[in-house]
Amino acid sequence: MSIHRVAITVCCAVWTASATAAEPTHATYKYAKLRPVPRRAVTFGDGFWKPRVDASRTAGMRVVLDEYLTGKSKYITRNFQVAAGTVDEPRQGGRNSDEFLYKLMEAASYYVGDEDTGQIVRDLDRIIDVVLAAQLDDGYLNTWVTATGKRRFSSESWMEYYYGAHLMQAGLAHRRITGETRLFDAARKYIDLLHRETSPPDKWPFLTEPTDAWPYKFKHEERLYVQRHPDAEMALVELYRETGDKKYLDFSRLIMEGGENYLKREGLVSHAVKETLLNAGAIDYYLESGDRRFFDQVGRMWADLNRGKMYITGGVGARHAGEAYGDNYELPNRSAYAETCAAISNVFWQWRLLLATGEAKYADLMERVLYNGFLAGVSLDGTKFFYRNPLSHRGSNAGKQPDELRHTYWGCSCCPPNIQRLFASLQTYVYTATDSHVGVHLYTGSTLRYMLPGGEELTLVQKTDYPWSEDVQFDVALDKPGRFTLSLRIPGWCHGASAEVNGQTVEVKPRGGYYLAIDRPWRGGDVVRVKLPMPPRIVAGDRRVADQVGRLAILRGPIVYCLESHDNPDADLDQIVVPEDIELSARFEPGLLGGVVTLSGKAQLVRHAVEPGETTIEPTTIKAIPYYVWANREPCDMDVWLACDAEILPRPKRPTIAFGKMTKHE
Ligand SMILES: [Zn+2]
Repeated sequence: MSIHRVAITVCCAVWTASATAAEPTHATYKYAKLRPVPRRAVTFGDGFWKPRVDASRTAGMRVVLDEYLTGKSKYITRNFQVAAGTVDEPRQGGRNSDEFLYKLMEAASYYVGDEDTGQIVRDLDRIIDVVLAAQLDDGYLNTWVTATGKRRFSSESWMEYYYGAHLMQAGLAHRRITGETRLFDAARKYIDLLHRETSPPDKWPFLTEPTDAWPYKFKHEERLYVQRHPDAEMALVELYRETGDKKYLDFSRLIMEGGENYLKREGLVSHAVKETLLNAGAIDYYLESGDRRFFDQVGRMWADLNRGKMYITGGVGARHAGEAYGDNYELPNRSAYAETCAAISNVFWQWRLLLATGEAKYADLMERVLYNGFLAGVSLDGTKFFYRNPLSHRGSNAGKQPDELRHTYWGCSCCPPNIQRLFASLQTYVYTATDSHVGVHLYTGSTLRYMLPGGEELTLVQKTDYPWSEDVQFDVALDKPGRFTLSLRIPGWCHGASAEVNGQTVEVKPRGGYYLAIDRPWRGGDVVRVKLPMPPRIVAGDRRVADQVGRLAILRGPIVYCLESHDNPDADLDQIVVPEDIELSARFEPGLLGGVVTLSGKAQLVRHAVEPGETTIEPTTIKAIPYYVWANREPCDMDVWLACDAEILPRPKRPTIAFGKMTKHE
């Protein structure tokens, strides 16, 4: 029994980090500054995230499950029946469709035992039966190969490591939550096959056709192996945590060192989801191995990320071509790719860096992605999703770029189930607990149950309307007095924070970006209050980014704001100029878009004319909404980066031949 299993045998069990005789002797997170707590140690209470997670569990899971079981994408499930030989039809869909079902199985597994999840559990059991029926005797499981007669571990096969990773992550979630082992055992059998067949580098099969750029191609002594998509790195480390078998940890390193070695990479250049997952895997490997080469390399990649390769929303992957990271400072607004899966991968990356270092900047970034780049990917009702997340949109272009409108599925349906699994496990990102240290990383209504090393049972109840409210309160319940350090993240954007324990002021640094550590003897009934001032703030565009020149963005707390035409009906967004010293007033509007704080202020309506000198300027009022709620009404224009320089506004053009009607004879 692993430490995780201790915590989840009973729904409201108190989690303990101390081992029992029944547990394996291996220690995990050996090189971590912070340790995560299991999902069941944390429950959401009233606050920002609970209704979103509830919507995902009820409506979101339902719509994706129905899509995969009976909807247009039911081939995703049926492909396993084709592979098992129980349905005599051709396999359908893309080569990577198995992955979509595995992600959904992971999400559904987390929900087993939660309220109102009876149908999810029944669907999950049915899906597990269908999936496992397609597994071959030696453990191989891949409908693209089995249902089509292609050669495994060859240039014809596809994503064999990636499939193993997602199957394993589903199996781990299922075992940890339910205590059942059939999905876990099946996934491990497939991983063991991968290890047996491909782990020693001299077994890597010849690849008959060279493929294009990294990370598609792994080279080893003139042999090539197609890894195609990172993710196995994290899954193997997690399997090591579960089993204590070091071969999985070593396998993770082998994959990263193979061929075009991860340790020799110079920057983030290719497919954003792949690059980001690989970095998450590399830091995960460091957390268990202590191998500084990986820690240092991840640091170099993180520095590159912060050289203009990430949007202000935390979204990554600027380019459509190859769904890739762009060059440094290549961050177009309207054509931003910023796939939702890439934002989710960025959460995984920053979270693991936080565990490794305990540094607030990683939690700040994780928070930024969660509230903006990730959350914009799902509609308010939880049932429609974005694949890509532009920072500017013109409603009239909607017909040309249908992927800008939210859908329940796509041909490549990777994002919807990925969103489900992050929502289903979101409470694990709120707290950490290490011996006598409790870290608070996200502010949201929630409860942590944790057993201190002295055996004291701690219940920490967090009450807050953050990010709308600046106030957070923690109620401490202890069955007997105990000592521990409570570390509260003071976000980097926050200046002038204050805190008190039982009404007594605690000293807080004037500038945020660190953890406020309160080390004292605690007793039941203690109350901690924190105030995190969040006046609206202006971020000037970076002149190195073409689409930010002459522009600014508006933020409040962790929330990035945008203008939508709906709230600014008197102005064309291409005519609004926002002064850099704009005074913005914040107002909570409970009836708007699920209840949001809007920001309003005085700006200018600048109408350029064809003739110079005929520009007119009028005062106007703008109203900004959080970026994450955009595109929840009829399609309209939207901008995150707003003009503060009238010169960058488009001017009407004099008719030219380019706009005239051409005929063959002209
Ligand atoms: Zn995706």
